[in-house]
Amino acid sequence: MIPFIDLKTQYKRLENEIKSKIQTVFEHGHFIMGPEIEEVEQKLSQFVGVKHAITCSSGTDALLMPLMAWGIGPGDAVLTTPFTFIATAEVIQLLGAVPVFVDIDEKTFNINPIKLREQIEKLLENGKLRPKAIIPVDLFGLPADYEEINTLARDFDILVLEDAAQSFGAEYKGQKTCSLTHAAATSFFPAKPLGCYGDGGAVFTNDDELAEQLRSIRIHGQGSNKYENIRTGLNARFDTLQAAALLPKLDIFPEEIVMRQKVAEKYSSGLKNKVKVPYVPKDRISVWAQYSVLAHDNEERAAMQKWLGENGIPTAIYYPIPLHLQKAFSHLEYRPGSFPIAEQISKKIFSLPMHPYLTDEQSTKIIDILLSYKSTYNQE
Ligand SMILES: *Cc1c(COP(=O)(O)O)cnc(C)c1O
Repeated sequence: MIPFIDLKTQYKRLENEIKSKIQTVFEHGHFIMGPEIEEVEQKLSQFVGVKHAITCSSGTDALLMPLMAWGIGPGDAVLTTPFTFIATAEVIQLLGAVPVFVDIDEKTFNINPIKLREQIEKLLENGKLRPKAIIPVDLFGLPADYEEINTLARDFDILVLEDAAQSFGAEYKGQKTCSLTHAAATSFFPAKPLGCYGDGGAVFTNDDELAEQLRSIRIHGQGSNKYENIRTGLNARFDTLQAAALLPKLDIFPEEIVMRQKVAEKYSSGLKNKVKVPYVPKDRISVWAQYSVLAHDNEERAAMQKWLGENGIPTAIYYPIPLHLQKAFSHLEYRPGSFPIAEQISKKIFSLPMHPYLTDEQSTKIIDILLSYKSTYNQE
């Protein structure tokens, strides 16, 4: 069986460095907010090219904390995509604000800026909810349309929080993700492009005041000392052992991004006449958190997945149910048909194994097996 994501090969490559970094933490004993936290934050902010990287306990908390700092709550609307992982919209609802979904672009699978403008105008006309923030998601590692989104944010005085959980290291018009908006959140969940060995995340911003608020929120809303609490916060610190493990991984990350491009390019040229392969606009670089293709329809997807599975190739579906049709958001009263593009894509999409260490032999096998699937449709 070819692994869907291969963390073992990377570990073997970095075993000595990782073990020695972790050993250092056991020896110095500063398990909470140890020196590796500051070290990794400096390297992360340098990598992205922003002033502040604030590490935290997960990608979910990295989304939650800026919304808390901005005072988002009841009466506020936060606009986002229905075609994402639950966490993106969960944090909005957790704060008592209302997630307002906007359909996606059928080529990039990211939020559609034209529909975003329409939805903001509708909210303003309606007057019930204040549109306070937008959370664009860089799905599968491909940056959203930040030029258009930032223009909207300026026009309507709305904050933008980039959900870069899947896109750390990607680029938009020559700039790294996490540097494109007022604030950005990423995740170091093991399966993300830059993963640690447990949960972890980080927020990025150039805003000094926001950075200070985030550092306070992640430690129980602390003030100038440990026992002064100036706001309601969280226990959302990044673990020192995880920071230690992340350091050697960050060193080789630029090289791994290039390795991911090679796999994706080979897939796309091999499969373009069999399935709809991912679209990457010329001004963007994806980090390929997932390599996702579209079958002709739901039935063909099921048959292709079965065929691949029988031949030792795992596949996955991100995401089978768009968020507006999830029970957790049923009170928002969306219906099938509310976001036709997200709904159509969710029925046809599936992802192939993707990681930097996929060998030439493995990718050739995956392509050959998918090509040998007997389509009952004529591909154009
Ligand atoms: C993984 C993910 C998150 C949440 O990250 P965790 O570290 O698992 O909390 C948020 N948004 C998106 C788009 C994700 O893929």
